[in-house]
Amino acid sequence: MAGEESILRAEKIYKNFPVKTNRHLTVRAVSDVSLTIRVGEIYGLVGESGCGKSTLGRVISYLIPPTSGKVWLNDTDLSALPKKELRRQRQNIQMVFQDCLASMDPQQRVGDALTEVLRVHSIGDPAQRMSAVIDIIQQVGLRPEHLFRYPHEFSGGQRQRIGLARALLLHPALMVCDEPVSALDVSIQAQILNLLLDLQQQNHHSYLFIAHDISVVKHISDRIGVMYLGHLVEEAETEELFAHTAHPYTKALLSAVPDISKRHEEERIVLKGDLPSPIHAPSGCVFRTRCPYATAACAEAAPELREIAPGHKAACHLCK
Ligand code: SF4
Repeated sequence: MAGEESILRAEKIYKNFPVKTNRHLTVRAVSDVSLTIRVGEIYGLVGESGCGKSTLGRVISYLIPPTSGKVWLNDTDLSALPKKELRRQRQNIQMVFQDCLASMDPQQRVGDALTEVLRVHSIGDPAQRMSAVIDIIQQVGLRPEHLFRYPHEFSGGQRQRIGLARALLLHPALMVCDEPVSALDVSIQAQILNLLLDLQQQNHHSYLFIAHDISVVKHISDRIGVMYLGHLVEEAETEELFAHTAHPYTKALLSAVPDISKRHEEERIVLKGDLPSPIHAPSGCVFRTRCPYATAACAEAAPELREIAPGHKAACHLCK
């Protein structure tokens, strides 16, 4: 269960990328995002593809530095660390990707790849490394004989288990899981989500869980942040977010989830158009071009992300 103590704080994160074909243009992938992940907490980050959530995950893991803003791991400002110390601190944050084995050498047995992770970090002798790998592979529900197989010999669900094992080997305080189940069948998704929950109970680490499917995020998260076009537009404890949804974008995401107990077609909020380009974000509220409640005032001033109830924040002029 999560307490109030934080494991990670991201403060006023901006991440811009130059447009290769036009040096006068900038992709504003993440804009002014601040969030805190508590010790033992599962923080879900949800939004459409292209909203900047994966970029934010990479910045938080310090795989890429922010354009501006700071990331604190416990009390350590990652931006202030020399390279060697940053590398040491980064062991505490591990990423799990959509296809964890895609980056693995297809000619290398899984057991060799996993022991290599420990060797690179100078952990243990060969016997200790093999023992640690056997222990982890069983924790994720595979058997020691799987270590002698090659990446292509595994199913999608097994590949994610190996990805989890690889991340867990270094005993991270925070795991950043970027769409870890979105490529899997629904029944396998449930198995991996339940495994993530079991591992979290056993190891007491924290997760940043990134996904585009709000029902998946609801299943696993203690708190949820909703992202739209690089901005955090709503954040609350999971129960509070679903009971008192405030932001029109979050309402639209929820209304798109199939629910046989509702007269679905009547209640669905259909968003107009596509996600705008992060190169030319709308003025004022970034959601205004698709918001069914937008007024002229929404084009003039950007709403601040502010507390509308204890622990519940939203960025909308209409939210009281
Ligand atoms: Fe919609 Fe205006 Fe609220 Fe933005 S500020 S979400 S455009 S009502």
